[in-house]
Amino acid sequence: MLEITDLAAGYGASDVLHGISLNVPEGECVCLIGANGAGKSTLLRCVAGLLRPSRGRIEIAGRDRTGGSASARLSYGVAMVPEGRRVFAPMTVRENLEMGAFRRLIWRRDRTVSDDLDTVFELFPRLAERQHQAAGLLSGGEQQMLAIGRALMSRPRLLLLDEPSMGLAPRVVQDIFATIRRLNRDGMSILLAEQNANMALKSATLGYVIAEGEIVRVAESSQLLDDHSVRSAYLGL
Ligand code: ATP
Repeated sequence: MLEITDLAAGYGASDVLHGISLNVPEGECVCLIGANGAGKSTLLRCVAGLLRPSRGRIEIAGRDRTGGSASARLSYGVAMVPEGRRVFAPMTVRENLEMGAFRRLIWRRDRTVSDDLDTVFELFPRLAERQHQAAGLLSGGEQQMLAIGRALMSRPRLLLLDEPSMGLAPRVVQDIFATIRRLNRDGMSILLAEQNANMALKSATLGYVIAEGEIVRVAESSQLLDDHSVRSAYLGL
C-alpha cells in the first residue's frame, strides 16, 4: 500500500530524515516507534503530502506519488490524524466530521456523506451524542475520536496516526487502540507513529524503530516487544 524508499526531508536547509525506507503492506498495521524528536511526525507529514522530501520516493498503491500535494494524497486514499488532534474548536462535532468529506461536499450535498456520518457515529457513539456541541468542549479522548472520525470521512485506504495516545488517560488509550485494531481488522492499512511503544507494538504486525532520522531496527512487533534493547529504550523496562 505504501512504499517509502531512501527518503530525506527536513525544514529549511537541514534534513531531519536521512534515507528512510519503510513499507506498509496492504491491510497491515505498521508502527513507527521512537523518542521525542526522532522524526516520526516529519515522516508522516511527507506521506500526507504536507512536506516535500528533498530526496527519495513515496509509492502509494504501486504508483509514484512523491511530489503530490496533501489534497492529491487525499484523493489517493491517504488521510492523517495529526498529533494533538487539531480539531476545529469553535465548529460543532458534526461540522468537524463534514470537513473530513469536504471534497464531496464542495460539489454537491452528497448522500454518501450522511451514510459515512452514520458509520462514524456507530464507531464512536459518544460523538453522536455530542454532535451539536462545539468540538473545543470535548474531552481529550473525545477529541481524539473526532480527529479519527474526521479522517475516516475521507474514506481512506491508508490511515496515518500521529501519537493517538498523547495526553490521554490509560483507560481512554485502551479504547482508542481497540478502535484502531477494529479499523485494521476491517481491512484498513495503518501507519501508526507512537511514543507509547507498548500499545503500538501490541496493535501492529510490524514495527520500525526510528532514531535521529534513521530507521535503526525493523522486525515483527512480537520480536520487538521481546527485544531487550527495545524494552529498555522504549518500554521503560
Ligand atoms: P515528537 O513526538 O516530539 O513529535 P517526532 O519523532 O515526531 O517527535 P518530529 O516532530 O518529526 O519528531 O521532529 C524531528 C526534528 O525536526 C526535531 O528535531 C524537531 O525539532 C524538528 N522539527 C519538527 N518540526 C519542525 C518545524 N516545523 N521546523 C523546524 N524544525 C522542526
